[in-house]
Amino acid sequence: MTTLHFEKALLPGGWAENVTIGVTDDGFIHSLETDAESAGISFVPGVALPGMANLHSHAFQRALAGLGEVSGTATKSGKPDSFWSWRTVMYDFLAALQPEDISAIALKLYVDMLKAGYTTVAEFHYLHHDTQGNAYSDPAEMSARVIAAALEAGIGITHLPVLYSHGGFAGKPAQPDQRRFLNGLDDFMTIVTALHTEYGAMPGVRIGIAPHSLRAVTPDLLGAAVSALNQLDATAPIHIHIAEQTREVDECLAWSGKRPVEWLLENQSIDQRWCLIHATHMSDEETDALAASKAVAGLCPTTEANLGDGLFPAHRFLEKGGVIGIGSDSHISVNLKEELRWLEYGQRLFTRQRAVLSGGPQKSTARRLYDAALIGGARACGQPIGALEVGKRADLIVLDCSTSPLYGRSDDAILDSWIFGCDTNPVRDVYVAGRHIVQGGHHGLDQIAEKQFQDMLKRRFK
Ligand SMILES: [Zn+2]
Repeated sequence: MTTLHFEKALLPGGWAENVTIGVTDDGFIHSLETDAESAGISFVPGVALPGMANLHSHAFQRALAGLGEVSGTATKSGKPDSFWSWRTVMYDFLAALQPEDISAIALKLYVDMLKAGYTTVAEFHYLHHDTQGNAYSDPAEMSARVIAAALEAGIGITHLPVLYSHGGFAGKPAQPDQRRFLNGLDDFMTIVTALHTEYGAMPGVRIGIAPHSLRAVTPDLLGAAVSALNQLDATAPIHIHIAEQTREVDECLAWSGKRPVEWLLENQSIDQRWCLIHATHMSDEETDALAASKAVAGLCPTTEANLGDGLFPAHRFLEKGGVIGIGSDSHISVNLKEELRWLEYGQRLFTRQRAVLSGGPQKSTARRLYDAALIGGARACGQPIGALEVGKRADLIVLDCSTSPLYGRSDDAILDSWIFGCDTNPVRDVYVAGRHIVQGGHHGLDQIAEKQFQDMLKRRFK
């Protein structure tokens, strides 16, 4: 057993001083004491917060960050650059990607996530097959590579193999450049079952599924996949991209007469095991119904801004009791602070008001968003995380408050100064399951991960 002592920590009941946390050998909090004596205990200066879940990641896309920013690189037809033109750049890159490339990208990404303050990641994994679209000898090869990288880096992972069968609504055939993603139900469940058998009982790992989108699965296939998952684990997380783009909404209306979120709520039992990624374009009725469902809205503000998706109706959704979490998705930014900052800034720019998501007078905006994202992240990952309390995994981060702009700040002002006022990264220490993974801002694999990532870049961009 390990015992840690913090001068200040954010607990479910609020801020507390002189907090002693006892951690079992398997990484769970078994005791928690406030206003405690620190004598003889490992003292950690700074402010402890629960580690954050990054609930939406496509690891391989990290290697592309910054490469979709030149106008007209993909659309030579003269159409405006859009999500769909960016997607062409992304497809071109992954056409040649090899298993060892995935390993290198994921390791570097997960090391960087930990240093940013993310202690668990939900990996929405759709790159299954070889460059020709054939299954590897181990059909779960790419998934195994990603999980291995997470275990090596020391980050918790909820792995979500993606079911991708079609190229558009009504079972439209997929395109050749989607060949590495495609599975029917049986082949998909072969992957899911193998992963569940291999990793289902492993600490820090959870296996769920991700039907890619309503474009990529038919209603029958979606229902069959959920039923098949229930045979393995009836509480496992289910994530789906939805209503990210207005074109998707228009196509869904043309196909079904319903908007995407509306259709999903009417045709599946949507509850807290579901995470709807983006859900950007919703009517007020959809927003209210999704909030009432207790499903998580998985928001990815930096990616949604980068791809020109639109603005999620965050104020209404939160006021209706909706649950949100954050993800870095395309990894244009791997920065917890930026996700929360731009979640709020998007609303400010749209409404021309301030502190839009604070939740009421005299409330801290950053505190409300941090608390909300902890709850949603834990729910979406289906793991015992998201709070410093007995029974939860000992995943926590420590902010260095010895220099400005955090110096001298107290309680919620610490969070506000970090999220809105900090240009450097104050995350100094990170613990996952009680293991001291990031120390003084450094991860033990920093140099190895950077070297492997650079080698990958030489191979793929020579
Ligand atoms: Zn995504």
